[in-house]
Amino acid sequence: MLHPQNNKRRKKIKAVLFDIDGTILNCNRAGSSALIKATVDTFETVGKMEAIDFQGKTDKSILIESLSIMGFSDKDIEEKSHILKEKYFHYLEKSINKYEVTVYPGIKDILIKLSAREDILLGLLTGNFTESARIKLNSHDLNRFFKFGAFGDDAPIRDLLPEVAKKRIAELYDLVIDFKDTIIIGDTIYDVRCAKYAGAVSVAVGTGWGDSEKLKNENPDYYFDDLSNIDEFMKILED
Ligand SMILES: [Mg+2]
Repeated sequence: MLHPQNNKRRKKIKAVLFDIDGTILNCNRAGSSALIKATVDTFETVGKMEAIDFQGKTDKSILIESLSIMGFSDKDIEEKSHILKEKYFHYLEKSINKYEVTVYPGIKDILIKLSAREDILLGLLTGNFTESARIKLNSHDLNRFFKFGAFGDDAPIRDLLPEVAKKRIAELYDLVIDFKDTIIIGDTIYDVRCAKYAGAVSVAVGTGWGDSEKLKNENPDYYFDDLSNIDEFMKILED
């Protein structure tokens, strides 16, 4: 709670929403390997999963894109998705420590700073399913920073996730946050497009696997090669 004496100078409350893969951490294919294994177990094929680019996509859309070529309808996939998820989370949980999961420079310090601020609501906006997001973040004890999020189970496409985050904030904090006071941080052109689609502030980071020139060409509101310059990043919140 804010102290009453601070109320006059009270800062505007902002939501800061982080993508996970390529932005917070690199799980070195732990996620895709587990998803491929679970998909084979569940559907007896991976379809074209090994050939598609996972970047910026929700887990749900990765499944649809991979399996539709094998004749599976969205409904077929949906019907078995609880089995698939169970297997995926099991494989991921079991194997994640065998992969070298790395957290990108500056991230942990930024999360510590942001989570200490009463004017910041820190959340996730990711294509990961809720549970796989938890498993990935847990490998470096980062779950504790995030009280809410919008996930790959919530919508098939990323552009719909800011609305979900807004709804979660309203439920959790009894607060309506305008998208102009929402900052979306991600490593792909899809994160930037999703922020723009919502009318949120877009922050692109070049730590992911994509071409950084392409990322800059999307004209994000802010671009960083990485987030190692914490003070520079924190300035965004003052604008
Ligand atoms: Mg990403």
